[in-house]
Amino acid sequence: MAQNAFDNAMAQLEKAANIMNLDTSIHTMLKQPERVLTVAIPITMDNGETQVFTGFRSQYNNTLGPYKGGIRYHWNVSLDEVKALSFWMTIKCATVNIPMGGGKGGIIVNPKELSEGELERLSRGFVQKIWRNIGSDKDIPAPDVYTTPQIMGWMRNEYESLVGHSDPGVITGKPIEDGGSEGRSFSTAQGGVYCVTALAKKQNLTPENTTIAIQGFGNAGSHMAKILHGLGYKIVAISDSKGGVYNKDGMDPHVAEKIKKEAGVLGVYCVGSVCTPSELVTEGHCKIITNEELLELEVDILVPAALENVITKENAANIKAKAIVELANGPTTPEADEILFEKGITIVPDVLANAGGVTVSYFEWDQNVKDEHWAEEDVLQKLETIMVEAFDAVWNKKEEYGVSMRTAAFVQALERIAEKIKV
Ligand code: NAD
Repeated sequence: MAQNAFDNAMAQLEKAANIMNLDTSIHTMLKQPERVLTVAIPITMDNGETQVFTGFRSQYNNTLGPYKGGIRYHWNVSLDEVKALSFWMTIKCATVNIPMGGGKGGIIVNPKELSEGELERLSRGFVQKIWRNIGSDKDIPAPDVYTTPQIMGWMRNEYESLVGHSDPGVITGKPIEDGGSEGRSFSTAQGGVYCVTALAKKQNLTPENTTIAIQGFGNAGSHMAKILHGLGYKIVAISDSKGGVYNKDGMDPHVAEKIKKEAGVLGVYCVGSVCTPSELVTEGHCKIITNEELLELEVDILVPAALENVITKENAANIKAKAIVELANGPTTPEADEILFEKGITIVPDVLANAGGVTVSYFEWDQNVKDEHWAEEDVLQKLETIMVEAFDAVWNKKEEYGVSMRTAAFVQALERIAEKIKV
């Protein structure tokens, strides 16, 4: 990672704290996580050899409720990244006003290199190391980059074997048949879509005249592309770790997904026929683009939905989008934030734009502890209410203080946390 995500997070905290005159003792308290676990996870690989993986769990703050946040499997995971993500979870839960604190976990691993059995042993091994510190009333993990409902199912099962009783609320993002919530699989994207719709209303945009580029075609990005396409928005560019495709006329993300499944790379329908990147021309309506080029396209809305620190002081001046909706966590560095603010580009920040995931995770936990199962339409209705209320509250704070939506969201969240600490 080019830039230290935790330094970025602390710069954002500093900025909001100064603007709102946050109590110094609360500010100081929020400069580090309450607890960090670093664990070694020895796994017997399929070839019989032992390999030791490093895992982290950062429990940042639980003022508003149990620590809550995903577990990431990625070769670039670091303690600073996990700490930053757990801080952002603290702010995120407070921004959307749900009774949860902030946590995050990660394992340094390339999951694509592991067999299913190795992945299961690694996931169970992680829980064996952290189980005393998690639980439905303590710390509730969930999926994140390269972790899946299946992995959450293994983790829940391992936790329950260790504690000796059922506790489905210990983890969210589980498969539906294992206590998961309807709508959880696409809730991050759905929450982002509610933000796009709310933003479009403020900026007088209609779906047909709004072009969108999405970086990252995983859980968050691919669902976002499909839902927005269904609402009539024009998805002109998408990408994954291998690169991207662009179609000036707009594309059907379902087709891109189908091509990716068949050909292993994203593709588009181009002049009536299917084109994969290897067949695309580099000029004209359809073309292959790099991830860097995608970020600098002339579009109405840019959606970073992959990893952090992709919009930096090096490329911020070249961003031509009118607005950015951050589905990824931490895609914009503080320096880039300043440049984009000066350029008048509205950023719907990660702590708001991708909060749909944790909100439905909270619904899942709520259903588990009450032994209920809600219909998808009920889940989505509740999600919409929370997201629209949070969007409007942040928008009003932005107007009140004359700051970016990110700083406004931080101010809103910090006010809620500070109020609870004082009680
Ligand atoms: P995912 O693993 O499902 O997908 C990640 C996508 O990013 C993949 O398409 C991958 O090919 C792509 N990618 C990886 N490296 C890339 C690179 N260098 N350039 C461009 N694309 C690259 O992960 P996800 O769950 O969709 O998470 C994506 C982002 O959204 C992360 O920042 C995550 O923290 C955030 N997020 C996810 C959720 C959720 O519920 N899944 C919730 C909140 C925030």
